[in-house]
Amino acid sequence: MLKRVITPAELATAKKDFEECRNVVIVCHTSPDGDAIGSSLALYEYLKRKGKQVTVIVPNYFPDFLHWMKDADKIVRFDWQKTASYTALKMADLICCLDFNDLRRIDDLGVAVSRIRCKRLLIDHHLDPDRKPFAHIISHPELSSTCELLFRLFDALGETDKLTLAAAEDLYAGMATDTGFFSFNSNDPDIFVIISELLRKGIDKDRINRQIQNNFSPDRLRLIGYVLYEKLKVFTDLHASLFAIKKEELTQFHYLKGDMEGIVNMPLQIKGHKLSIALREDTERPLIRVSTRSVDDFPCNEFCAEFFNGGGHKNAAGGTLECSMEEAIDIAMKGLEAWRERLADAPVEEAKKEEI
Ligand code: 5GP
Ligand code: MN
Repeated sequence: MLKRVITPAELATAKKDFEECRNVVIVCHTSPDGDAIGSSLALYEYLKRKGKQVTVIVPNYFPDFLHWMKDADKIVRFDWQKTASYTALKMADLICCLDFNDLRRIDDLGVAVSRIRCKRLLIDHHLDPDRKPFAHIISHPELSSTCELLFRLFDALGETDKLTLAAAEDLYAGMATDTGFFSFNSNDPDIFVIISELLRKGIDKDRINRQIQNNFSPDRLRLIGYVLYEKLKVFTDLHASLFAIKKEELTQFHYLKGDMEGIVNMPLQIKGHKLSIALREDTERPLIRVSTRSVDDFPCNEFCAEFFNGGGHKNAAGGTLECSMEEAIDIAMKGLEAWRERLADAPVEEAKKEEI
């Protein structure tokens, strides 16, 4: 039995929206991850089985290691398939926005979505959603993932028994990827109750884990080696690290989108490490992409809002900078200095005082 998270009002909203709709578009965030694609396809499966016409539209590329999901080949890419995207959007009487909290997070697709006169429903777990564009909002930042939220919603709707194996696989994949395979944000015992329910549906958790984690090219492995050996700067006193990688360097490793995914987590394996910062030159636009990861109470989202025009979760956040890599490194260094007190150990005198 799961604790009640979905409120009666949210349940009523979802029930009504899912019953009344006929043509649904599901959208998720730019550079979709396991949670974005998993939640989109699980909802797709659910609504299709209810007899709805459904289209999933993603803003851009999503990684190869998610293509095993059922109906992933039916996903429409907004950057490539404008006609199919607009046809679906114009027909829609409900647009479900999953795993993001602000239409600006989905770039041009957000502009298109905001221009369509149609009911918009947000289902998400990011902090502080922008409420204006949405008729209804089901937002639970306390949950590990949008997939967990969606499972709870299906459960509250009394649909757990009808959940298909494909939807169960999608939901598991999203929960697993958003929690680093249950290594962070996953102390809620309910998460494991949900997983046991998904296992009962017949998911092969071990195979899904392999399909997601062991799906890399030799180049990606060599890129990891290069980043860790040549590029990583560790600031021992701050329990923090930084690496910056340029376009030319990525090209050396025949970079494909997704190849940098997760490397920012690796420095957190250093004993006592609190913060990892990654700067990457975008391969398509003149931008520096910033990714940060932390442990415990260091707020990456506040750090990214202050220095990198970004935001996100407490332990995983990002942003962008429109400047050269050298300037971006300077900004990151200023950020580290500004947050020195939170990062460095307490001065010895202070520590002694506390002992007394
Ligand atoms: P990643 O480092 O994997 O690109 O992003 C980690 C998390 O940070 C994402 O799940 C998202 O919540 C947030 N994030 C990444 N980039 C941005 C950004 O430019 N703006 C905001 N507000 N959040 C971001
Ligand atoms: Mn998510």
